[in-house]
Amino acid sequence: MRTPVRVTAVTDSVHVAQTELVNWTLVTDGRGVVLIDAGYPRQRDEVLDSVRQLGFGIDDVRAILLTHAHVDHFGSAIWFAKTHGTQVFCHSAEVGHAHREYLEQVSVSALAAKAWLPRYLRWTYHIVRAGALTRAGIPTAQAFSEQVAATLPGTPTAIPTPGHTGGHCSYLVDGVLVSGDALVTGHPTSKLTGPQLLPGLFNHDPAGCARSLSALGMLDTDVVVPGHGPVWRGPVRDAAARALTVST
Ligand SMILES: [Zn+2]
Repeated sequence: MRTPVRVTAVTDSVHVAQTELVNWTLVTDGRGVVLIDAGYPRQRDEVLDSVRQLGFGIDDVRAILLTHAHVDHFGSAIWFAKTHGTQVFCHSAEVGHAHREYLEQVSVSALAAKAWLPRYLRWTYHIVRAGALTRAGIPTAQAFSEQVAATLPGTPTAIPTPGHTGGHCSYLVDGVLVSGDALVTGHPTSKLTGPQLLPGLFNHDPAGCARSLSALGMLDTDVVVPGHGPVWRGPVRDAAARALTVST
């Protein structure tokens, strides 16, 4: 799964880095770059590569916004925050999770129960290599706010989407919905393609996931950058409806 990182323009200012394991989003303007999510811990070089591909350096990273504090989304942000003092923000209800005061992530025993499925076994091997077992948090992570947004490229708007984790949050930026794991279009452990929820064992609150999906369906946007899987182009209400149909 060690393919070079592929960075694709979604709009003039929004770009997606899509890897086999997880995606992250880069929002740019003359002031620099905001990352929305940051891959696994050992995807740091790929994250840096994606920033450089857009003509920026590490000191141009103005902030990292997290959709949620799972290791596949905040991994390299641990290093950015610790080594470069990069500001990391998430929904206020996710801050404790980002600090690792508690963990809302699928347990090893729940995964072990699926280990007889080749796709789970393969995926588990790759995520362990990518640093999935780290227990580190980001003690400096703070709550995102409108005041913070106003200082950042793209002025992202937070769309709370609890369910996958208690403080999961999507973002709307330049007309693009960055949905994290509230709405995905694929995952190495899923046989489905197209809009869907992640397999149930990954979701902290499945009923919350369905509610958040319905809320996303009411947004007026035609582009979704998910946390996993390819970009979706089409009315988000169609994506949400499909995801609800196949996943519940
Ligand atoms: Zn994820």
